[in-house]
This record gives sequence, C-alpha cells and structure tokens, in this order.
Amino acid sequence: MNNTSSFEYHCYSCGHTCPLSDQFQCPVCGDPLSLRALGAMTDAAMRTPPASLWHYLPLLPVSDPQMVTSLGEGATPLVDAPRLGARLRLGGLRIKNEMVNPTGSFKDRQLSVAISHARERGMDTVAVVSSGNVAVATAAYAARAGINAILFMHGQAGAGKIAQAAAYGARVICVDSPYPSEVFSLCIQACQSFGWAHLSTAGMYDPYNVEGAKTIAYELFQQYGAEAMPDWILAPVGGGGLIGGVWRGLLDLKRMGFIKKLPRLAGVQAAGCAPLKQAMEMRWDFQESLCHPWENPDTVAGGIADDILFDGHTALPALRETNGVAIAVDDDAIKNGVGALAGAEGLLCELTSAVVVAALQGNAALFEGATVCCILTGNGMKDLAGKQIVETDAPPHIPADMGALENLLNLG
Ligand SMILES: [Zn+2]
Repeated sequence: MNNTSSFEYHCYSCGHTCPLSDQFQCPVCGDPLSLRALGAMTDAAMRTPPASLWHYLPLLPVSDPQMVTSLGEGATPLVDAPRLGARLRLGGLRIKNEMVNPTGSFKDRQLSVAISHARERGMDTVAVVSSGNVAVATAAYAARAGINAILFMHGQAGAGKIAQAAAYGARVICVDSPYPSEVFSLCIQACQSFGWAHLSTAGMYDPYNVEGAKTIAYELFQQYGAEAMPDWILAPVGGGGLIGGVWRGLLDLKRMGFIKKLPRLAGVQAAGCAPLKQAMEMRWDFQESLCHPWENPDTVAGGIADDILFDGHTALPALRETNGVAIAVDDDAIKNGVGALAGAEGLLCELTSAVVVAALQGNAALFEGATVCCILTGNGMKDLAGKQIVETDAPPHIPADMGALENLLNLG
C-alpha cells in the first residue's frame, strides 16, 4: 500500500483541500498547504504503548517501512511535576519530556520522518538551516541512513551544539548572519543548485519536514487518556512548527473520534524575538506576519530566535482556534526557569525550553487551578559549556578530611 495516498493537502488558513502534488501553495489564498492524514489508528493500537513514533505509521507520510530511519525517537515520558505545580497553584502540572529523544530534542521526531521521506525519494544529500537542534538531529539521522548532511548553522547557534553536530560526521558551515531567514535563502538556493533535499523544519518550505511533531499529541492522548486531557498545553515557539504540529495532531485525534474537545494551546517566545505574539496582537494573518520580520533577535534562548514564523500558517490558527495565547518572557525569567525546574523536579532543560516554565511563573492568574502540560523540547546538557547554563557559585574545594567537611558545613 502506498501510504502517501492516505494524505491530502489542507490549507489551515482558508480550508481549501486538494490532492498531494509538487505544488504546496494554496491556490485559493496563497498560504502554504499542510499534509493531512486520511488514515486512522485502531482503538487497539491506541491502547498499546508506542515503542517509537513509528507506532503511528498509518498517520505518517512514508510508504515503504524499509525506508524508515529510526533511532527510537518519540515514546517519551510524561512526568508529574508536583512541587513546581503546587508552587504555581496549578490543578496539576506534567512535563512531556522530549529531552530524552536520541539526540536530546524533539527535533528527532521531525528529522526521523523527514530523512525517511528523503530516502524514499532517492536523495543522497540533505541540507538544513539550524540554530543547533535541527542540525544535530539531521546529522544523526543522516548518519543512520548512510547519506550526506550539510548543516548551515546561523548566528544563534551555540558552540556545544555545533560540536555535537560535527561529531556525527556532517559538514558544518557557520553562516555569519543573525537572521535565520537570510540563511534559509542561501540554503534553499544551494539545494536547488546542487540537487540536495532541503529538510529544514519549516513548513512553509516543505510540509513533510514538520510532520513528526504531531506524534507528540498522539502520545499525550495515550498517556493522559481521553477524559483527562489537560486544560492547557504550553510549547516553546520559534518558527511555530511544534505548536502547529501538536495542534494538527490533536485535530487528527478529534477526526478519528478519540477526543471531542481540544486543550487550549499557549505558544511561548522570548521577549527578545516574539513575532508570534506580535502577529496575534496585531491580528495579522500569516502572510502579513511575513512582511514584518523581528528586527533584532536578541535572547539567550537561541533555539527559538526565529525572526519570522516559518510555520505561522499553522501556529496562528492553532492559537486562534483553541482560544489560546501567545506569551513572551524576558531573558532573566528564562534563566530563572531553568533553575526552578531543575531544582524542583530534577529536570535540566535548555534555555529555549525554559520559556514555558517562565510563562507559568509570569502568568499565575491565567493558569491558576488549571491542569497544564509543558513540552520540554531540548536537553540542558547540550550546551553546558557555552552560554546556556544556570548561573551558580563555583563549588568549594576541601581536603579529604572530616574536620574540613564539618567546618564547611558549620558543624565543627
Ligand atoms: Zn488557503
């Protein structure tokens, strides 16, 4: 069976639907089209815990199971966060821990699907633009598939992630521009000139590359159960592919009859680069938002410092149609969020992920009493040597001596 025949294109802006083709611009409104699965999961399959996101193969755009390139991505834990939840007076806080994916971020979901799709098309070289996590995931999955990876790292990339990506044998190129949209133009031109597959996780350039994110929604349904889905799901937003993907996954669950009501979605950005919040406040549609790139991205959360909404065509309706919100948090709150979560719950996330903790801390009235799921997208161990670290005092040094220890602890 050709699984891609179980998909159609759908425009989440105007509602237009059409068969798949090479043209993924909506003929009615001009927005990018998204993939929409027509297949379904059985009740039995949705009661069986997944071993990886490929549990949901009937809803993923890969026809030949032989082409699936997997490192065991997805199937991540949903962890209770009782201490932090109580401190924030929530009705319940749980963390979808995407940090345990094979390369340490949720991008493994997207690249596992994107590389499998590229292999199915016979591509032998892939290229991406990235601040770090996409590059690392691309490098790992390309290595797994035995194909070449070219990584265009832009000005927001951290040293630790550059080193991690290079370790997989990929070709890393650092482009001196703080604007991801400029680096995208270069990468796309290179892909057209050299015949590489462009796998950047930006739905406006290729709808296949953001498909993997929707599997988070399927897993949340299995982990929470139909009757106990959370009131809110909070996700960090850079280009918007995660929150747009989670929303599309929730819509799939509704279409298949597994849920009736969708959780409200909150997209969280850094105040130093907040084009989603800007677009929501200005009531811009996707194309209007593209006309207003964020002028000077400046935040410690480099992983979400995207100057434009590469997935605004799904991220904007995700918020508008779930009565959701866009939230921006400043750098001090983000740094504080890393430490607050690590200290209360034993989960060390990267700064980019900590925006969701900062959003809960800064919007107590909005979330009070609600059940909340935060998606933690990336592991804090990725860039401990770089700027992304909790500020702590250097530990004291003592000789291997009980008296010295007692002195230090004021017990002597
Ligand atoms: Zn349209």
